[in-house]
Amino acid sequence: MSKYCLQCEWHVSDAMDYTEAEASREAIEHFVETGHSIDSLRLPPPVVSRN
Ligand SMILES: [Zn+2]
Repeated sequence: MSKYCLQCEWHVSDAMDYTEAEASREAIEHFVETGHSIDSLRLPPPVVSRN
């Protein structure tokens, strides 16, 4: 399960080796710190190339 922010580029993904509980905690911390909304995806978010 990946989680991502609707309002900035914050996200956690399976590739980052978090457990589900850790990913949830990270998402909550981001919400508490920023007030941003976090959403979850069963698939990783699309990779956006930035050059
Ligand atoms: Zn955010």
